[in-house]
Amino acid sequence: MDSRPHKVPAGSLTPPQLFSYLTNNSLDQLGDSEEVWPIMYWAAEGARLYARSKNCQHRKFYVGCTGHGEDELGQWRLAVGYNSKSDVFERKCAEMRMFDDARRIGLQRITRIFTVGPHQIDDHSGVPSKTLHPCKYCRDLFRQMLLEPSPIISRETVIMTALPPEPNGGVSQTYEKYTLGQMLDLHSGNHHPPKL
Ligand SMILES: [Zn+2]
Repeated sequence: MDSRPHKVPAGSLTPPQLFSYLTNNSLDQLGDSEEVWPIMYWAAEGARLYARSKNCQHRKFYVGCTGHGEDELGQWRLAVGYNSKSDVFERKCAEMRMFDDARRIGLQRITRIFTVGPHQIDDHSGVPSKTLHPCKYCRDLFRQMLLEPSPIISRETVIMTALPPEPNGGVSQTYEKYTLGQMLDLHSGNHHPPKL
């Protein structure tokens, strides 16, 4: 898998179309399917809008994150998180809150992560990107989690990052897709940009 943008499957779906899709197909029926990406996108966007409605980020920089994984019964479920940082809300990234939710619902392994937020170049690594990548604190958390005896994530977990919806309300066509291993390597200086 490379860093070139991939087509988000069924990327033209809007929230009402998804709602109708989901009422006819449960998430569990989708299983470990690529078709879950647009659902994850809108779930992450929903979490982002929730955080905005609660005004819980002093920089007004809102991020949402969804994790797709399997619980102990083998059912596929979504974990969702939003970011916060203000005088009232503790500092927590959307990815961190998504993992809290994953533990709450008993996910045993997460195969996909989708982060939706405004573009920002990483403060620590300075690695250029078209979208918002998980921050240094989240990357350190991923590395720590990978060392756990039965990690909920793996280096093969796929992570998609995208901008919030387009002005017309559709899924953003600006996105990146990596494995977690690639994402971690990219920001730790092991990335070799393609020769021009
Ligand atoms: Zn973070």
